[in-house]
Amino acid sequence: MGIYLDNASTTPMSAAALNEYQMLASDFYGNPQGNHTVSRLALRKLDEYRQRASQVLGCAVSEVYFTSGATESNNLALLGSHRKLGDLACSSIEHKAVLSPVEYGGGEKVPVSGDGMIDQDLFRDYLKEKRGNLAAVSIMAVNNEIGVINPIPIFAGMVHKHSGGAIFHCDGVQASQILNLAPIVASVDCLSLSGHKFNGPKGTGILVVKEGTALRPIVRGGSQERDIRPGTHDLPSIGAMVVALEEAQSQRSTTHEYLIKIRDLFEERLTALLPNVSVNALNGDRSPAISNLLFPGTTNEEMLYLLDGAGVYASGGAACASGALDPSHVIMALGVDKLLAKSALRFSFSTSNTAEEIIEASEIVAKVYLQLTGGQL
Ligand code: PLP
Repeated sequence: MGIYLDNASTTPMSAAALNEYQMLASDFYGNPQGNHTVSRLALRKLDEYRQRASQVLGCAVSEVYFTSGATESNNLALLGSHRKLGDLACSSIEHKAVLSPVEYGGGEKVPVSGDGMIDQDLFRDYLKEKRGNLAAVSIMAVNNEIGVINPIPIFAGMVHKHSGGAIFHCDGVQASQILNLAPIVASVDCLSLSGHKFNGPKGTGILVVKEGTALRPIVRGGSQERDIRPGTHDLPSIGAMVVALEEAQSQRSTTHEYLIKIRDLFEERLTALLPNVSVNALNGDRSPAISNLLFPGTTNEEMLYLLDGAGVYASGGAACASGALDPSHVIMALGVDKLLAKSALRFSFSTSNTAEEIIEASEIVAKVYLQLTGGQL
């Protein structure tokens, strides 16, 4: 089946998540909102998963909201707190699922430096300048294209201290496999997660909303999820997601350790074969699940086409933007010039990737690059 190096885009469901899904779909099909025994059995299960999710995340049961994914969770946190034009802010390298609602609300983007990090002094000054005029500020835990890790408790603390009442939202999607989520949850007002990034089903997500955080629903309908997220619950998917979250968080230390070896092996092999290829955000604090590199003299489109044919599956950046001809806003925000930014490729790893696969993949990538640029191995 080739070598799958696009785990930041999506992951396959784990065996335990699949089993849970099948069990719930056949035995607990009731609508948890109903008033009879079949519904009550489903509701009891839903309550159990909410409780288990809260246990993993270290928050109150009533602070866990089930959604259809991180795109919805991000929109709910941001547009659900938005009150007037210009009252939202985020970093310039957020996923489109944050950037878009912030732009829709007329909000602003805080720049990052060449290593993808937000300057803490500039950020503090920005908050002081906007004091009293912000409803929500959003900063991601781990960037989905270059893997940069932000110190979320520090940024959350600054927002709480200097913004004059804004809520702090964090897109925690790419952190779920490698970082302990509980300390992040403890510091924020809202946190978004996506089931399919940690071996759960697609179309599932969580928004943690801390007690006292006032959000308005962005979709109108029934009273599910305490009136802020209406719609019939997909219990089998919710159960499978929570099982996958428990697995991901309990294995995160070994996952992190393993991925460091895999990521370093890939980058070392590739840059030894291709000395003019460089790693983006090399000096930032980075997730070992993601490696983003520039391949001068090529476009990621042509590289990806040939890699696909050779059985190596990677991406040009965020899956929702792939296929777009414009260079990634994340790579551009690092100060990379436009032509070079178009050559950026993201490889993202999982514990299913073996060292042999990684060596083979680096050789294939090098061959494809040299084929396009006319060089020789
Ligand atoms: N935020 C980040 C950082 C992501 O990587 C993604 C997925 O690509 C999303 C949000 C969107 O998540 P979902 O696919 O659950 O809507």
